[in-house]
Amino acid sequence: MPQSTDTRSTPMSARSPLGALLLAAACTAAFPAAPPADGPRVSKAVRALHEQLLTLDTHLDTPANLPLSGWQITRRHDVRRDGSQIDLPRMVEGGLDGGFWAIYTPQGPRTPAGERAARDAALERAVAIREMVAAHPQQFGLALTADDAARIAAQGKRIVFMSIENSYPLEADLSLLETFQKLGVRLAGPVHFANNELADSATDPKGPEWHGLSEKGRAFVAEANRLGIVIDASHASDAVLDQLIALSKTPVLLSHSGLKAVFDHPRNIDDGRLKQLAASGGVIQINFLSGYLIATPKIPERQAALEALGKRLRKAKPTLADREALIQARADIDKQWPLPRATFEDACAHLLHAIQVAGIDHVGIGADFDGGGGVTGFEDARDYPKITARLLQAGYSRDDIQKVWSGNVLRVLRAAEVQAAAALVQP
Ligand SMILES: [Zn+2]
Repeated sequence: MPQSTDTRSTPMSARSPLGALLLAAACTAAFPAAPPADGPRVSKAVRALHEQLLTLDTHLDTPANLPLSGWQITRRHDVRRDGSQIDLPRMVEGGLDGGFWAIYTPQGPRTPAGERAARDAALERAVAIREMVAAHPQQFGLALTADDAARIAAQGKRIVFMSIENSYPLEADLSLLETFQKLGVRLAGPVHFANNELADSATDPKGPEWHGLSEKGRAFVAEANRLGIVIDASHASDAVLDQLIALSKTPVLLSHSGLKAVFDHPRNIDDGRLKQLAASGGVIQINFLSGYLIATPKIPERQAALEALGKRLRKAKPTLADREALIQARADIDKQWPLPRATFEDACAHLLHAIQVAGIDHVGIGADFDGGGGVTGFEDARDYPKITARLLQAGYSRDDIQKVWSGNVLRVLRAAEVQAAAALVQP
């Protein structure tokens, strides 16, 4: 889920898919100014190469759409109508083999009642992801190890790794991390747009609270290492990233982040840290969320209109029709108070800079589709081959591009598996 300068001071509830979309809307003109072009997006030769690669996006917010009544993962949707960017037909069309499907929980009150509600919502979301796979066993496969990815792709199925975005749901009881690991989670980030009991966020308007990880946050790192779960530093403060690199027994991943050298935003990381991440074996996955890629002005009237819309349309159990009404209302707000929207090339500036500074072994893709991602020229899953085309154009080889698409993240996951297995046999 996104959070940007525009919304930092006014965290909006994003517990429902509608709320999540509004939060996305607050920080970026998230919907296409012009309809996405239909027809082939890249040449036949690029398409053929793209199809040969194992492609993973490490941050799919699509599970937030699963409870939306009337919305189906196996049906083709239109980003212009309902805002959704990932479904099975468009994954096939875009040559996306799979990714990490996020259990996202918005940061709520750090009280026993808030933590219980977050725990229940996260468990329910984890079950919803598993149900998606169980309901479509010919189309999807649950991946529990790095090696599962190629095995599932070879069966012609889409790969479903599970991840946690914001570990607020387990801050009251860290033993739940093992429960989530048993459900299939292999990647977990401690924190989201506001500080919690585990760690400081990059974007909490109150600033640092723990100056990195709390004591509980350090226990979270040890537990993740023990369980073979990769730690995700996206949304965490710079101090948290430093401490994760120092503390974690296995390399750290940033599942959807950008570069301060290209656009200075607290959610992005500086070149010094990028080099440290690479030196420790870690990987940054580049996001395609406009508000983190280019500067956008704060427009208080726009913010107020989005909040009013949120209050008007917020429902506990939204339907597809509710979603479409929201998209229309948001388009009206975008028209009245337009924000500059990043382009595909703006996003590629982050991607190419990251490769230049960190090296080809330390960069991947986490576009943040269905969580606020999407830029002009890169609107939904059908556009993934454009990344392959852009990397070829920049002079990278097939092997290089394979690393970016999945080789690097699978190496990090494998390292976590090996470390956890070794720890089991040692006293
Ligand atoms: Zn996010």
